[in-house]
Amino acid sequence: MFTPIRNKVVVITGASKGIGRGMAQRFAEAGARLLLINRSESEGHALVEELKQSGAEAYAYSADVRSDQALAQAAAFAEQQYGQVDILCVNAGIYPAKRLEEITSEEWDYVNEVNLKGSFLTLQAFLPLLKKAEYGRVILTSSITGAVTGFPGWSHYGATKAGQLGMMRCAALELAPHQITVNAILPGNIITEGVIAMGQDHIDKMAQSIPVKKLGTVFDIANAALFLSSKEAGFITGQTLVIDGGQVLPECLEGIL
Ligand code: NAP
Repeated sequence: MFTPIRNKVVVITGASKGIGRGMAQRFAEAGARLLLINRSESEGHALVEELKQSGAEAYAYSADVRSDQALAQAAAFAEQQYGQVDILCVNAGIYPAKRLEEITSEEWDYVNEVNLKGSFLTLQAFLPLLKKAEYGRVILTSSITGAVTGFPGWSHYGATKAGQLGMMRCAALELAPHQITVNAILPGNIITEGVIAMGQDHIDKMAQSIPVKKLGTVFDIANAALFLSSKEAGFITGQTLVIDGGQVLPECLEGIL
């Protein structure tokens, strides 16, 4: 039995869609108080209204994770509403596919600024509030891509997802004396708005390369975030959790499954 996280304050970036939205729904069901961050004001507010209707306490804040100023304002808002932050889900990310020859310097920087620098800026902005809470769970959404596997078209993306793990390990050590844990979830292929936008052909191909023959749901990831946020997960830090239906396991799929 896990200690309920009722009333814990949870901040989630990239919360309006996909995995972040699934996390928001799961944490709301568990009775947590939420601050949801993404860029689109209307999508953030629509989700907050939905969560409030089922009894949750939630606020949306529009901020681009590339901006330290916007994140500082979001953290000030969190402090004003809740006083502290217990759990930070660093989830906002983008994955535009482009081959090596075609990635421009600006495109490389853009993916890096959202996924990797954005992760750092988010953690830095909310750190004082996490330290205040004397609880402290940081969960990064990395990926199998770059961190474990490779995929043509995602050199820039893969670099950021591997980079998040380097930051995680150093941060886990720095924050251990404050009883703040820092872990990363590495999703495989999960059905989200971002993945749906890549087309049915991509989804079908991916399903074929996953031993369980289907993509994961946002709740497969959200459930793991809920576990890593629990009191009982307090001795786990600096670790990665692959959630991929077995996708990184096989040496060969053809003829064995
Ligand atoms: P998604 O459906 O495209 O949603 C992305 C979310 O991030 C949206 O809420 C978006 O809202 C927000 N966002 C994007 N850029 C932002 C920025 N600059 N500042 C603030 N918010 C921003 O994506 P997803 O598939 O759920 O992916 C979420 C995370 O999981 C990413 O880090 C991704 O790398 C990782 N991941 C996903 C998969 C998968 O199969 N889906 C696999 C491995 C890893 P706005 O546009 O309103 O800002």
